[in-house]
Amino acid sequence: MSEPSQSGKSRRFVLTTGGLLLAAAAVGVAGTAEAKMAQKGVQYVAKSPKPNMNCGNCASFLAPAACKIVDGVISPAAYCMVWSPAPKK
Ligand code: SF4
Repeated sequence: MSEPSQSGKSRRFVLTTGGLLLAAAAVGVAGTAEAKMAQKGVQYVAKSPKPNMNCGNCASFLAPAACKIVDGVISPAAYCMVWSPAPKK
């Protein structure tokens, strides 16, 4: 009996790693197509009850009226429970 050659191990590693990378790529592609969260699910309100915390100064806000993570039309004056501060300019 002979032990698997070094190149046999390498081939297996490449095949396994390649398979994992393909799976990760598939998840990545699916991830970009993932649906955004529903406004109701994040307790979106059209007028922010919190001073200085609104969609207009949230890291996820996409001007003029959208959000990276919440579905639908988003008002800059609105607010939801996943608000996070936009980076300072
Ligand atoms: S607060 Fe931020 S995360 Fe929530 S809807 Fe507004 S922009 Fe999107």
